[in-house]
Amino acid sequence: MPDPAGIIRVGGFESLSLCDWPGEIVATVFCQGCPWDCSYCHNPGLLPATGEQELPWQDILQFLGTRRGLLDGVVFSGGEPTLQRGLGVAMAQVRAMGFRIGLHTGGAYPRRLAEVLSLVDWVGLDIKVAFADYQRITRVAGSGARARESLELLLSSGVDYELRTTVSPELFDDKALADLKRDLAAFTIGKHKIQECRPVISQGH
Ligand code: SF4
Repeated sequence: MPDPAGIIRVGGFESLSLCDWPGEIVATVFCQGCPWDCSYCHNPGLLPATGEQELPWQDILQFLGTRRGLLDGVVFSGGEPTLQRGLGVAMAQVRAMGFRIGLHTGGAYPRRLAEVLSLVDWVGLDIKVAFADYQRITRVAGSGARARESLELLLSSGVDYELRTTVSPELFDDKALADLKRDLAAFTIGKHKIQECRPVISQGH
């Protein structure tokens, strides 16, 4: 069980964001910890399971209490939010305050994703590359199978979503793009956004 005072470990917080959930005005919680190690990760401080400067979850809840009626929702980003056992409890707390819930994930923990999908209104799922090629990006064996399982869970849940692929020129050539498109063609995909790698952006994935 997570520490009731902590619930989840938070490495950063954006009190107002217009870009983390398309069309929604949100606050964004950057969850601490990620099991993957993408070379282009712009937020390496969020990768260790425990951060050097964590923000108390209770303080964030208190702040959100002052934003009722002003924000459409709250996005849980990272890092990898589904790393944390307390994610569902934290989402339920925020939902009970009247906010809609968004989730950014790379799909590293399909079982936890399945646990929280009923609490989520929108998912931004990071699809890094063709599933067989994931380890080249994440530097973790088996990561592609986990991402694929998460995609299947998301698509069968009916939860609104956007798939996002970050194209880094050094890691992503024409063949890699063709392989990814072939993989995704096996699914009925609604929204897939390909974005260029930027040196500094405000979210974990
Ligand atoms: S880019 Fe996302 S999945 Fe990759 S290491 Fe960074 S936080 Fe983890």
